[in-house]
Order: sequence, then C-alpha cells, then structure tokens
Amino acid sequence: MWTYLNGEFIPKEEVRVSPFDRGFLFGDSVYEVIPSYNNKLFLFDEHLERLKNSLSITNIPIPDPLKDLHPLIMELLKKNQFSNQAIYIQITRGVDPVRSHVSASTTIPTLFMSSAELEINPYRGSSHKEGLKVKLEEDIRWKRCDVKATTLLPNIIPFHREDESDTDEILFHDGEKINEGSKSNFFFVFDDLIVTPPKEQNILLGVTRNYILKRLSEEGFKVFEKEVRIEDLNKADEIWVTSSTKEIQPVHQVDNKVLPRKELEEYYWHKTLKILEEDLKSNC
Ligand code: PMP
Repeated sequence: MWTYLNGEFIPKEEVRVSPFDRGFLFGDSVYEVIPSYNNKLFLFDEHLERLKNSLSITNIPIPDPLKDLHPLIMELLKKNQFSNQAIYIQITRGVDPVRSHVSASTTIPTLFMSSAELEINPYRGSSHKEGLKVKLEEDIRWKRCDVKATTLLPNIIPFHREDESDTDEILFHDGEKINEGSKSNFFFVFDDLIVTPPKEQNILLGVTRNYILKRLSEEGFKVFEKEVRIEDLNKADEIWVTSSTKEIQPVHQVDNKVLPRKELEEYYWHKTLKILEEDLKSNC
C-alpha cells in the first residue's frame, strides 16, 4: 500500500512523521474521508469544501498540495489498485522547532494521505442482515463538532469499555437532545416523516447526510431537519445511520429498545439506499 506525505508517495511501511508534529503533540489537526467507487471519487467537491472549512476555523494554513488535490488522490488510488477505496486525508499544523501552544508563523502544515479498500455496504441488495446495535451516551465532546478534528477521544472511549464489544455505534445525546453518532449521522422515521437533527445542533455536517436530505426531498419524501429527543426514540419506526464509508445502515436496537420489524421493501432506509445505489451507478 502507498501513502502520500508532503509531496511524496511513500510505501506504507516506510512512511514516517516526526513525533514533534503538532498533530501528535496537541491533536492540532483536522481530517477528511472521501469514498471512491470504481476509481471515481464520490462528492469530492463537498468533502474538499468541508476540509477547507475545518482548516479555516482552526486557522491551520492551507497546504500547497491542497490547491490541486484531485490528481494526487487519483494517483494514490491508482497505486493502491482496489476499485473501491476510502481516502483518508490528515492535515496538521506541522512540526515546530520548539514545543509551544503557539506555533511559529513559518511552520509548514503536514499533509498525509492514505487509502484503504472500501468494504461495500453489507446492507445493499436484499440482505437480511440484522441492523446495528447502538448505545446512548452523554455527549461530552467540544462545542465545535462542525470541525472534523482528529481529536476523537470522546468518540473512541465508549467503544473501549469492557462490556462494549458488540456495540456498533454510539449515539450522543446532549441532555434530552439527540445529536449524532460517534462516526455517523442519524436519521429517524416517524410514520412517513424522515427526520435528522438540524445543523444548528453540535454535529458534523455529514456529506452523506446533506446529500441524502437533498435527494430525499427531490424524490418527494417528507424529510426534515428537526430536533429529536430521547423520549422520541420509543416512537421511532426506523433509525438509520449515514456516513461516507457506511453509506446507509439500519439500526436494530438502541440500548434495550428494539426497532419494529417491517418487510424489507417497506423500510425507508432501504428505499433511500436504492436511490443512493442508482446515483452511484450514474456517478461511475
Ligand atoms: N458524524 C461524525 C462524528 C463522523 O465522524 C462522521 C464520519 N466522518 C459523520 C458524522 C458522517 O459524515 P460523512 O457523511 O461526511 O462521512
């Protein structure tokens, strides 16, 4: 496998970043994940825009290679050969001569890219695989979850408790309010209404979330950004997650509450996934 670091393609086993990099010392870094299907990036412009937004909010300078990123990613995809891949882009504020909260104005940001084979969503097609197991967790993250920061301790700790080995996703709530998952956005279905928490809440604006919102409303579904409360979970007919690597995946249970069963064709998550699959076909 190949990686890209600051202007060079380097085999995965040989690539090195300094431990004095601010990403390592301070978590002073942001990242982005872009899916590619049949060697074509999906929603590249949207991901690049979000990455630039993360850089702008954190005041990390835009690394030079970001100005013409597409051909670099295409080169990495070609070197790593899988037809479907997830591309990970990490940008840190760089390596400073002296360890200090305040970075030197001359410090050059570090740009690292890697890719991995993208496992095709196991819920595509007519799969009857059981949905995800989700645990509710108080949201102790910082208040700028719109920044895709690499500092992910609160997202990671819940998966490392002793009794959490079969937990697929954590659902963060802020008091009574539902926010999002540790690695995905959440959608809820109440009768024929499809709802996802609004952008005003402390969430990452998922590229997949935004795309699904747009496509469902174009297709005439009743879809809204609206606050969802913990008590509403008992009334939900369906819950699903969205992300760039997971696409759309249904939830089977949240804590001890099991979601109602329907025929596959009746699920809104299934109809939505069909729309996405068709769109992906025409993207390729
Ligand atoms: N929320 C969080 C906290 C995430 O880590 C992710 C995955 N990057 C998402 C939502 C989904 O975002 P996207 O659809 O852009 O992958």
